[in-house]
Amino acid sequence: MKITIIGTGYVGLVTGACLAELGNDVFCLDVDQRKIDLLNNGGIPIHEPGLEEVVARNRAAGRLHFSTDVAASVAHGQLQFIAVGTPPDEDGSADLQYVLAAARSIGRHMDGFKVIVDKSTVPVGTADRVAAAIREELAARGVQPEFTVVSNPEFLKEGAAVEDFMRPDRIVIGHDDTPSGQRARELMKLLYAPFNRNHERTYWMDVRSAEFTKYAANAMLATRISFMNELANLADKVGADIEAVRHGIGSDPRIGHSFLYAGAGYGGSCFPKDVQAIERTARQYNQDLLILSAVEAVNERQKHVLGRKVVARFGEDLAGRRFAVWGLAFKPNTDDMREAPSRVLLQELIERGATVAVHDPVAMHEAKRVLALDLGDDKLARIEFSESPMDALTGAEALVIVTEWKAFRSPDFEQIKARLKQPVIIDGRNLYEPALMTSLGIEYHGIGRSVLTSK
Ligand code: NAD
Repeated sequence: MKITIIGTGYVGLVTGACLAELGNDVFCLDVDQRKIDLLNNGGIPIHEPGLEEVVARNRAAGRLHFSTDVAASVAHGQLQFIAVGTPPDEDGSADLQYVLAAARSIGRHMDGFKVIVDKSTVPVGTADRVAAAIREELAARGVQPEFTVVSNPEFLKEGAAVEDFMRPDRIVIGHDDTPSGQRARELMKLLYAPFNRNHERTYWMDVRSAEFTKYAANAMLATRISFMNELANLADKVGADIEAVRHGIGSDPRIGHSFLYAGAGYGGSCFPKDVQAIERTARQYNQDLLILSAVEAVNERQKHVLGRKVVARFGEDLAGRRFAVWGLAFKPNTDDMREAPSRVLLQELIERGATVAVHDPVAMHEAKRVLALDLGDDKLARIEFSESPMDALTGAEALVIVTEWKAFRSPDFEQIKARLKQPVIIDGRNLYEPALMTSLGIEYHGIGRSVLTSK
């Protein structure tokens, strides 16, 4: 099938590359000329396992094209995916300016039947606004080609995006119950048929329910994280081990094991903004979402947990002290620094006068860019970007772990001890066994596990 993807970011690029991998003829459009040039020169703008190979293979096969040419891109696909960003507006609601600009681009150039597929995460009712924006452009041109807007929210996870896209747990598609909505359904069914060979994974519903489903999913996942973080802080006080508790409750099939890890708070481009956006939607309808307000507040507080633990151990004034930080990206296998808890920690350490040596396997370049914005160049100069995790440790008072990269799971603890000024690990992801740390003579501070190390 001929497909156009508007917005070539995490979601758009992965969607375009994976649909091309299945034999479709895909045009990826973006307004960012540098990104398109990079892709056309064989580069990849983001770190995502497996993506580079899929992009290279399909470009070489002539099935995947990157362009800034709006008219040519819109002319190409019968299916027009909108996969542009929906960042939070000042009041927390989803900023739809990019989605509506994409819709207008389609309206300005389309001829003949098109299915507009909202893949961006958008508030309930956005499909109607997309349709209205297209209609306005068509009216200005004095033409009336048929079109319909479907909602097909994306559930991929950064760090496993290609795998998630190629093996989805579910595909959610919302369409109108009109002749063009039914026609869109048939096209979407054809497009996703390769994913449904083993068993049917598609959930068909109305457009508003599909839009809502994406927010409900992210809100539920964020809730589980904040729930465990809040209980972990209590576990520290009452003398219980949150990891034992996690196993104890996760074994109940009604609860399950996923997304129950206590840590340093959630970040990324989705959970923070989507929780805010659904709260904002609720407020527009004069409803409070009390649970989600608490989820957000708990998460903001949890992003300070590592800073609090450093201060509890080393005091309020950190001038003259050096710390090593492992992990900058908001989660492993990505270089995405959006809303990353590491940014809160680094700000706090630097503001208290410390110097810091950091290491991340892939996010260092992106981290330099965002930390320059967060801290300014003067303060950024107090952060050293170390080529290896071990280099970062030399002369540091303690190692603070923020992101659970695989490479940090079984380090050489003797080397860590030898390099640190004193053997202290403050672990925001509960990577190590407290008993092992004690036996190695390492002072260990996890999240919700102090009962195992305070004896
Ligand atoms: P992103 O910022 O990585 O990419 C968006 C791209 O759209 C950018 O390259 C930008 O230049 C381009 N763009 C903006 N306006 C445009 C226009 N008018 N025409 C063409 N291109 C335009 O964003 P992302 O992380 O891919 O997220 C996209 C959407 O998908 C968001 O709504 C997000 O919430 C949702 N989503 C993201 C993820 C994720 O893990 N990143 C997962 C599921 C859903």
